[in-house]
Amino acid sequence: MMATFSPRTDQILLTSKQSSRNGKQVNNVIVHGWAGTSRSATIYTLVTDVNRQASVNYMIQDDWVGGSVPEEYRAWTSGSATYDQQAITFENANSGGAPEWPFSDATVNTLIDMIVDVARRYGKNRIVHGWMPQGSSTLGVIGHREVPSAATACPQSLYPRLTWLADTANAKLASGVLPPDPGNPEPPVAGTTYTVVRGDTLSAIAKKFSTTVAELVALNNIKNPNLIVVGQKLMVPGSNAIVPPEPTPPPTPGTIGVGSRVKLNSAVDYNGKKLAAFVMSNVYVVQELRGDRAVVGPQRTGAVTAAVKLSNLTAA
Ligand SMILES: [Zn+2]
Repeated sequence: MMATFSPRTDQILLTSKQSSRNGKQVNNVIVHGWAGTSRSATIYTLVTDVNRQASVNYMIQDDWVGGSVPEEYRAWTSGSATYDQQAITFENANSGGAPEWPFSDATVNTLIDMIVDVARRYGKNRIVHGWMPQGSSTLGVIGHREVPSAATACPQSLYPRLTWLADTANAKLASGVLPPDPGNPEPPVAGTTYTVVRGDTLSAIAKKFSTTVAELVALNNIKNPNLIVVGQKLMVPGSNAIVPPEPTPPPTPGTIGVGSRVKLNSAVDYNGKKLAAFVMSNVYVVQELRGDRAVVGPQRTGAVTAAVKLSNLTAA
């Protein structure tokens, strides 16, 4: 059981209001507006209040990103199981009220960065305004009111800007400018890795680097040679000997740092909110540490499980 949130997430606010994706892949983003400016009121409605059948994958207000329903699960955001199963949903704070329902530039820019981040993590090579079918290599962006049968003005003043929004995200994706990614501080050692691109096969990569599939499989500890994914980094034998990455010194016994393997002492997050009991039985890796706030996840990069207090961790 995984709970994946973007590395850009500032705060994790788990909710019981979620369902299975029913085997569907993420191919789209659905944009919503809060119809309000109050973060606490929105969190109450979408996260806490079990009488309101409404939840969301992410909330955005200026440069704040709150993750609520983990990406593996369907959030109850758009009034359609079929649409929400195939999408990551975003609720965006208004910066004013009716009738304009404006959004701040900071909120819009954070939304664009999050859309680029989703496209990159799901191996999409293009972002467009429109709904994308299962299996598409393009990420679709639509507004709530474009979900058939939705009778809503949501996402208010963002609706006429959706084509611009998708085009801007697409340009950012194409330019390769990375949004901040605090979960991935170490660039790969130049010349020793190859990043898988669309259309690659292991045998084609082996040919490119004058090596064999067997050698790539052994070097990278690949379990299924038929399954490589776009964006995956592979060690390749170069003309020079492979320079092993600098060994990270093991943390001093008793101290916890980024990269430490840890267990949680109690199932609560940084803000004191309850986490699922199963987190107690897992070993996590510390991905980020700022003061007494540690972000832990199942591996060194990418997926994040929760932000917790440093004092809630024991070296595993
Ligand atoms: Zn909406």
